[in-house]
Amino acid sequence: MTERIRVGILGATGTVGQRFVQLLQNHPRFVVTALAASDRSVGKTFGEACTWRLPGDVPRDVRDIPVRPPEPPLDCDIIFSSLPTEIGREVEGCFAEAGYPVISNTSSYRMDAGVPLLIPEVNPEHLALLDRRKGKGFIVTNPNCSAIGIALALAPLERRFGVEAAVVTTLQAISGAGYPGVPAMDITDNVIPFIGSEEEKIERETRKILGTVREGAVEPAPMAVSAQVHRVNVQDGHIAAVRVKLRRKAQAGDLRDAFATFSGVPQALKLHSAPARPVLVRDDPDRPQPRLDRDAGGGMSVTVGRLLPDAVLDYRFVVLSHNTIRGAAGAAILNAELLVAKGYIKEGSR
Ligand code: NAP
Repeated sequence: MTERIRVGILGATGTVGQRFVQLLQNHPRFVVTALAASDRSVGKTFGEACTWRLPGDVPRDVRDIPVRPPEPPLDCDIIFSSLPTEIGREVEGCFAEAGYPVISNTSSYRMDAGVPLLIPEVNPEHLALLDRRKGKGFIVTNPNCSAIGIALALAPLERRFGVEAAVVTTLQAISGAGYPGVPAMDITDNVIPFIGSEEEKIERETRKILGTVREGAVEPAPMAVSAQVHRVNVQDGHIAAVRVKLRRKAQAGDLRDAFATFSGVPQALKLHSAPARPVLVRDDPDRPQPRLDRDAGGGMSVTVGRLLPDAVLDYRFVVLSHNTIRGAAGAAILNAELLVAKGYIKEGSR
């Protein structure tokens, strides 16, 4: 039997950190051996430090792991990071310099020239950026939680018809703000039309994800992306209402087919966390809905619905994705599975 790769989680007690712990339970290739969080938690066991906010109890096999400060060395081969952005840059850089592969959720390194901003179904060829790395350590990032769903929906259209412009309006869940997130007094009976830096992240990250690697750097996709974001009173699941202008004329049925047949390297390689279908299409007039559709494909499929011709641009549709699974921990784990499959991570490589 293949030896499992030892995993450390930074920010393990947080919203995304707990998803990592949950999704890594009984993973065939990864085993959690190190957990790190803030001074508030260091010195306690994970079971003592973590107020578990997912269904069930803190998994037995991580309960007694001592929480460490997020600094090398940690007793693991690779790092999953879900630290706040403010400290992500310094901490993740230290681990990469110390020789660890770092698979990050934070926004700190996403736009760095040598760092892949990876969605395995969309741009696995961006891993070529790592071929120029100097040491053993490196950083691979997953996109912003809304940008992931948007890019997964735009990728099939970009491949088949070309996308000239996309106008996006998001309705984002409260868990996207981490714990305790938005105060109840602000979000109850309300919609907040502001999430710091989110519009800029969606606009620039989408173009990098759909871009092309040339001479060791990503040339952003030549499409205009405009985003407006809103925080809404939903627990999990981000919606994006998208209008697109295509480069080639297409019928609605062609778009539907492009979404429904979209598949990539994770499906071909049958990676453990890969959903059978990354994009599901629903034809019911009132779907997708966060409560009903966020767990599709174990939270790793995005659901597209409301596909219609648009009177201003060419077509419009709604895409829903689970922000802490496909938008965070699940995305990072799938990235790591691809890195293992492509030989960038090997067991006992440190
Ligand atoms: P969170 O619930 O606030 O959790 C933050 C985690 O970081 C906790 O484990 C916390 O530990 C730890 N931490 C805080 N300050 C620290 C410090 N100074 N040193 C070491 N550890 C520290 O946040 P989250 O929602 O999980 O988000 C984590 C990261 O993922 C952020 O960069 C966020 O932008 C990104 N992200 C979040 C989502 C989402 O849907 N929530 C999606 C994609 C990306 P203690 O418990 O000890 O305080």
